[in-house]
Amino acid sequence: MISAVEWRLRSFAGEFLERQGGVIEWLEQQDAGYAVLPRPLAEILECPPDTPITTKPAAEGLSINLGSQFWERVRRCFPAVSGLTLKIDALYLKKSSMDEPVARAFGFSNARARVSGALPERVEYQYWYFTAGIESDERWDDVFRVVINSRTGAVLDLPDPLTMAEVRVAELAAVPPTIPIIPIAIGTAARKAQDRAETFVRRLEERMRRDAQRLREYYAALLAEDTGRARGSPVEPAVAQSRRKAVELELKRKTDELRERYTLRLALRPVALVRLEIPALAVKIEARHRGVQTDLTVYWNALAKTLEPLACARCSNATFAIHLAEDLSVRCPACRAS
Ligand SMILES: [Zn+2]
Repeated sequence: MISAVEWRLRSFAGEFLERQGGVIEWLEQQDAGYAVLPRPLAEILECPPDTPITTKPAAEGLSINLGSQFWERVRRCFPAVSGLTLKIDALYLKKSSMDEPVARAFGFSNARARVSGALPERVEYQYWYFTAGIESDERWDDVFRVVINSRTGAVLDLPDPLTMAEVRVAELAAVPPTIPIIPIAIGTAARKAQDRAETFVRRLEERMRRDAQRLREYYAALLAEDTGRARGSPVEPAVAQSRRKAVELELKRKTDELRERYTLRLALRPVALVRLEIPALAVKIEARHRGVQTDLTVYWNALAKTLEPLACARCSNATFAIHLAEDLSVRCPACRAS
């Protein structure tokens, strides 16, 4: 079974590798496929030029799993993704007790949770800017950003840092790669692009349906005309039969052409990365699940002036409804059973 996030990563990886000159053979419902890559690309991705490709964790070949190295390596292929780094030195941080705000914001379905403390930290937020385009009978283009807390991987809605007066250009240290930020950014961007293109896609599908209907009506009228003529002068049944067959074939050919013309090709490209470091309040939570304790950190965001959600370890969606999996990782309600 392929999950929605695997689908999005897979379609991005496939489109990306093909754009870089690779050839991918991957049947729709299969966990793995096969890739043939140009040598320079294979070197960047640190894999053989002929390699299996899979959405599952794999020791060999190309794994495009959420936690795999693939995404870090893909980044080397985007020289245009600039590394603008910014910081804000001081922002107001909440000083009162966090017990009540945490209890109000978060729900724990299978754990007892209590706030054990809160302290100021400097946290990096990554602003990934994407262009998305759909090539079909018409074109659709968009530019948008995906903002991610680099500690938790949570996707947030934060204001554009370039509009903030307190922002300064700064050198920032590299973020330790504990969170798969790139696949989260790409997976979220693909979902966002789908949402934003919804009206365009619906209109296109509507037009395709209308065109297909028109085609069917045209060929049905042609056949009816034939039948009418046949009544006037007797036509051999074999001749009538073969004419009918020819018309049906022509309709099928035209319908296939129409489908091809309306095929949607989504291209998603990261174009810029802005890293912003700001003060945040790290709120420590002790969560006990079946007698075992795990420590979680949630952040009070000084720009949004509110608590941030956590990211589901499986689908990476942001969530305030926390379910702890057997390995004590955070799951959203949709992933709690898996
Ligand atoms: Zn989830």
